[in-house]
Amino acid sequence: MQEIYLDNAATTQPLAECNKIYAEYAQDGWQNPSALYAGATRVQNKINEAKEILLRAFGGAGHKCVFTSCGTESANTVILRGARKKKEMNYVCGGAEHPCVEESFKLLQEQGFEVRFVKPDKSGLIAPDDVAGAVDENTALVSVMHVNNETGAKNDVEKIAALIKAKNAQTLFHVDGVQAYCKEKLKNTANIDYYTVSAHKLHAHKGTGAIFYREGAPLKAYLLGGGQEAGLRSGTQNTLGILSFAAAVEYFEKNVEHRHFESLRETFLNACSNIPDLVVLSPRDKERACGHIVNLAVLGVNGETLLHTLEAAGIYISTGSACSSKKGKNRIRSALSLTEEEAAGAVRISFSPFTTGEEVCRAAQEIERNAGILRRFTRK
Ligand code: PLP
Repeated sequence: MQEIYLDNAATTQPLAECNKIYAEYAQDGWQNPSALYAGATRVQNKINEAKEILLRAFGGAGHKCVFTSCGTESANTVILRGARKKKEMNYVCGGAEHPCVEESFKLLQEQGFEVRFVKPDKSGLIAPDDVAGAVDENTALVSVMHVNNETGAKNDVEKIAALIKAKNAQTLFHVDGVQAYCKEKLKNTANIDYYTVSAHKLHAHKGTGAIFYREGAPLKAYLLGGGQEAGLRSGTQNTLGILSFAAAVEYFEKNVEHRHFESLRETFLNACSNIPDLVVLSPRDKERACGHIVNLAVLGVNGETLLHTLEAAGIYISTGSACSSKKGKNRIRSALSLTEEEAAGAVRISFSPFTTGEEVCRAAQEIERNAGILRRFTRK
């Protein structure tokens, strides 16, 4: 049975290029990058080169790069250690953010700060005017994700950035770019103070993330110790993970066309168009939907049951990252105002540069076939 992996928003298979550099540096580049002899300096130089590669792909406008262990650590660091905290300050946060962002703001709430959550529409999109409307003269930091990990909604973060700065030039703007980096390009990053990313969503190895921060934007270390990463992230760097990350970014820059994902999305949705009671929960407007994540529900069919019937056919999808627990499911359901039936049925299908049109058509056929069988049992 040919297996089809369509859960690339959860994690991705490392590229051969990443495995190669990982193995090479495990063998010959294992020295501590902070040490002073030639082998160590060579490793530190490679880390510096990796930063350049990552920043170029981001389109940094005077940004710098700090390596961390993952997207979660990156977002926690920015939100908890970015803006200066004064009692009267408030924070603004998108209403359907990843838990690594939402939980950081909840901690600030517990510490007595006001956090204003901006409600998304049903597809996870945040209206730029609503964000601007929530910003005032005391807003320290705003956080809105670039691509929503559940629905693939693509927020207009450039417009949001411009509106925030027009309202209050001192307000800092963080964008969680974990699902967007190297897949959705930005034209203007000048008003984005912090952009956070993760290697394992891009076919590199797990265990590395990064923060791109505008030079001059406040940032303090979350992990304290030996002062690595210019004092902003102590702990010996994960050299192998960092070089693997840079190799993946270079691969995307050279080989992956935005159009590939758009065309997969179109092919997949066309192939699903005759499934009875199908609701597409991702944005329908192509401008505001990323190509690589599609969320849908077949009303009357439980998403988790559908997932397991597809698994039996060798097709791997998900019910959404945050839906792995009951708490997560309720969180997303209420954030997006889904009906009970939509939330129960929601499944997420996510593509990679290696996913083919044939694979997504087969997935659509299997969804149709299995949903048809399951509905007989679950619909009253
Ligand atoms: N932000 C978004 C939008 C994500 O989808 C994820 C992971 O699913 C994260 C942050 C966390 O990244 P990591 O797994 O590297 O901690």
